[in-house]
Amino acid sequence: MNWENVISSRVHQVPSSGIRKFFDLVSEVDDVVSLGVGEPDFVTPWHIREASFYSLEQGDTMYTSNYGLLELRTEIAKNIETNYNVSYDPQGEVLVTVGVSEALDLALRALVEEGDEVILPEPCYVSYKPSTILAGGRAVKVQTDRQNEFKLTAQNLERVISEQSKILILCYPNNPTGAIMERDELLEIAQVVKEHDLIVLADEIYAELTYGKEHTSFASLPGMKERTILFNGFSKAYAMTGWRIGYATAPEPIIQAMMKIHQYTMLCAPIISQKAALEALKNGRKELDKMADSYNQRRRVITKGLNDVGLDCFEPEGAFYAFPSIERTGLSSEEFAERLLQEEGVVVIPGEVFGKSGEGFIRCSYASSMEDICEALTRIERFIKKI
Ligand code: PLP
Repeated sequence: MNWENVISSRVHQVPSSGIRKFFDLVSEVDDVVSLGVGEPDFVTPWHIREASFYSLEQGDTMYTSNYGLLELRTEIAKNIETNYNVSYDPQGEVLVTVGVSEALDLALRALVEEGDEVILPEPCYVSYKPSTILAGGRAVKVQTDRQNEFKLTAQNLERVISEQSKILILCYPNNPTGAIMERDELLEIAQVVKEHDLIVLADEIYAELTYGKEHTSFASLPGMKERTILFNGFSKAYAMTGWRIGYATAPEPIIQAMMKIHQYTMLCAPIISQKAALEALKNGRKELDKMADSYNQRRRVITKGLNDVGLDCFEPEGAFYAFPSIERTGLSSEEFAERLLQEEGVVVIPGEVFGKSGEGFIRCSYASSMEDICEALTRIERFIKKI
């Protein structure tokens, strides 16, 4: 069989995952301390799990509306209105999805025509480029850098815009850098978005995890609600990665278009996860705040620790990642991460898997226990002294 011809050319164009390759190596090493994975080390708070047991006991085992339970959509809209003062109609502007992952894929497939350009500020979350390619679009990167604390600037954005530009994907608080963008900085981006008639996919999955400064939702900026698809979910804030539940809110024509794909491919998000998400939004604030406080403590320890061992690390103000520079070691990010793993058993992610502008950095997740963070710092220090 000629498998080259069997597999679609779009899939051929998607590069294989750098993270996956790296985790294959991890499985070969003993006594590993991991700052690798991008998911909370907490289990889902008990009251949320309990709500799902109860819902099962009640016999909630059916499909729901394709849009998701109306009660959940109503709670999502209420939450966004309370937090960001943006109102969405639960009856047509909210779609419950199988994680933000599904919502992003739906949005790209619903909007992108062959050859449309999708602008990705790099370094960025690993799925944006493959999802763009699979939707038939062209990924165009725009660099962000350490000097600017990995914020997107209007000037850099302007430089990459062309006639084919259609979409900008914004992710703040950011994976992998931990950067945030404040309202006045986002307003400058909004100006460019308006001038060039772009649609923004605002992946705000880490919105609840900021440490000190309040999150500004891109949809809340003047004139931006109609140009924005806002994504959020439950994976990070409520430690619910395995439940696979998230949502998108947007103007009705966009939600309708995403819905056309969702109803044939997914039907609906699992009812048990929807019930759990409802409980999370209604009663989850206290537990969320506790988890965020704990990340904040670890954030301080890891940022100071990395700087102390000689890896220059700017202060991440959101999500749960630190993104120190490893340039002074003279190693590439891949060499650094591989040697650190093989020689000291510490897992960090090479910055280059998040795009070329991630080269010279490593991503360290601090959603790991404080013991693991301290042990990892000791081993990193030993490694740096050695090289
Ligand atoms: N967006 C970003 C920026 C992420 O970091 C992740 C997960 O790591 C996702 C989306 C996927 O989220 P979900 O679990 O809701 O699919």
